[in-house]
Amino acid sequence: MMEYFFFKSILMTMLLIGAFGFFFVKLTRLYKIMLAVDGEPKCLVDKPVERIKTIFVDVLGHTNIIRKPVPGFAHALIFFGFLVIFPHSLELMIKGAIPAFSAGHLLPGFYTIYLSVADVLGVFVLAGLAYTLYRRVIIKPSYLTMGIDAKLIILFTSTIVISFYFVNIFQLLSHEMNDGINYGMAFPVSGFLAAVFGLGALSDKEVFVWYEAFYYIHLGTILGFLLYIPSSKHLHLLAAAPNVFFKRLGVEKAVVKTPLEDEKIETFGLANISELNWHNVLNLYACTECGRCEELCPAAGTGKPLSPQKIIHDLKVELFNQSDLLLAGEHNAIKPIIREGSQVTGDVLWACTTCRACENICPVSNEHLDFIFELRKNQVLMEANFPPELQEPFENIENQSNPWGFSADSRAQWCTDIEVPLMSEKLKVDILWFVGCAGSFDERGKKVSRATARILQKAGVDFAILGNEERCNGDMARRAGNEYLAQTMIMQNIEIFNRYSFDTILTGCPHCYNIIKNEFPDFGGHYNVLHTAEFFNLLLKEGRLKTNTPDCGSITLHDSCYLGRWNDIYESPRKVLKMATGSNLIEMSKTQSKSFCCGAGGARMFMEEHIGKRINNERASQIIHSGATTVVTSCPFCATMLGDGIIEGKGQVLVRDISEILDEATNF
Ligand code: SF4
Ligand code: SF4
Repeated sequence: MMEYFFFKSILMTMLLIGAFGFFFVKLTRLYKIMLAVDGEPKCLVDKPVERIKTIFVDVLGHTNIIRKPVPGFAHALIFFGFLVIFPHSLELMIKGAIPAFSAGHLLPGFYTIYLSVADVLGVFVLAGLAYTLYRRVIIKPSYLTMGIDAKLIILFTSTIVISFYFVNIFQLLSHEMNDGINYGMAFPVSGFLAAVFGLGALSDKEVFVWYEAFYYIHLGTILGFLLYIPSSKHLHLLAAAPNVFFKRLGVEKAVVKTPLEDEKIETFGLANISELNWHNVLNLYACTECGRCEELCPAAGTGKPLSPQKIIHDLKVELFNQSDLLLAGEHNAIKPIIREGSQVTGDVLWACTTCRACENICPVSNEHLDFIFELRKNQVLMEANFPPELQEPFENIENQSNPWGFSADSRAQWCTDIEVPLMSEKLKVDILWFVGCAGSFDERGKKVSRATARILQKAGVDFAILGNEERCNGDMARRAGNEYLAQTMIMQNIEIFNRYSFDTILTGCPHCYNIIKNEFPDFGGHYNVLHTAEFFNLLLKEGRLKTNTPDCGSITLHDSCYLGRWNDIYESPRKVLKMATGSNLIEMSKTQSKSFCCGAGGARMFMEEHIGKRINNERASQIIHSGATTVVTSCPFCATMLGDGIIEGKGQVLVRDISEILDEATNF
């Protein structure tokens, strides 16, 4: 027996050194890949206390994961169960290498209590795993993969827990073990299982043999799993927490400013994986392949080839496939991401509406759009490869400063017959109203602008517009990847803004709102920006507007992506509608942060939709099914897309902007 334990000690020592050494080598390679990429990460390590708090809330608190309650709960059972049972497995490892080691002797009493908790929680892990298997094999949601990776992980984890119980059972039955542990107390579930299986009748020798067999199965599976983690989706076990730590704090986000003026830079955007930054790489490592992003993606949901989950997965595969060249420093030899036969195609890349549903739901805080925007930039700026429909709006913005090509001199014609002051006349105002291209040129948008002007006059607001001085702010061009055009428009607008004195920029368009508020600062334009929904809410609260609560029928609200998920503005439009109409909203099931995109964002407004169902038609059918007679939006692009979708779906729902509702509610 002494010889056996000596042999076991040698074997376990070699196995542990080998497995952990190999694991360390693999981790080192993953770390070196993060260091080998060239891109500059924009993520910060500011506010460390807030970042540590985020780890506790998001990772340990499972707040993101539990947003999908049943799978989230199952994940919590597995996660916390494994956390608790692992120290026992660790003790078994040490004991194998150093037979005299006993945690029970080191921590008398406490270790017995710990073992009893672990013995019970193992059942929870098995319950969580059973649900995971049921979901993947029976429910089979389309966004969940059941590839070899998923199967192996379920096999590994369930083998670990089942063998854990058998180790406990035979440890309990062994008369040899004297570890300072009260086994009767320590293994309530294992004791019950031993009785159920009638194992108490086994001889000491049989108990010993079975114990040793399950010991090797248990530890062998753990060590095998350890080796498998770095090359599987379970890499998220290591990468998720740091990924969350380095995530963007807050909701607002800006497209990364490309240094176009830097003559040392030869390519712009993301052409191959060497141009990722280490935070991007961490995003790829952290993906759990949970499929939540794909489930909520309006493009994936309407039959487009785009899946945000697949983009992350495909880029990870590309990264690993090209990692030898990357680590050898042969960046010029790395193949471009978009090439003949690659998974990320033009149809994938241009299907994105930039709605951020994927980023909002991702439990590990991945930022899918960072990849999409940079890939688009590279295709537009370096390859001149983009959907042909975008050529005309690009030229129109360049020549007439609006995507439709109306004469730039006719920008203020929408208000020639009403009293709307110009900044060039007033020079200094409280509110500079940025009307935007849609509000200035689009027929539907012009009606909304006139309603907004009337509201501002009724409230006695000191405001003015730029009139023909106003320029397209570059949002559409930027989302479409034309960074050069976007930066030109941004700089032109900042130059014009700087001619005047004002407190706040007001806009009725979430796209204008977002770019001026969140992206102009990167170009030196720092402004206090309000969307009309926010400003109207303030005016109503201050009593500067009185309402007559008109009967608008039953109302539902469509949350615009760029107001909601991009800027966390959900309450203001609801409060305005409540104060204006007095009625309670009908909330659609896809509302607020889970709102379904209208299909216009990401410059999709100016592209054809050749593949699958039209996104606006899908949202229109959700609106029609809500039973509301009016749908209110706070975005001119949403209004157009939803209006078209409702006509197509033969619905009887009126589409109105929040300004139109409030204008009517403030008429006496
Ligand atoms: S931003 Fe929206 S459309 Fe684009 S990939 Fe994410 S969920 Fe899909
Ligand atoms: S990117 Fe995020 S949401 Fe999408 S599959 Fe990966 S972990 Fe899940």
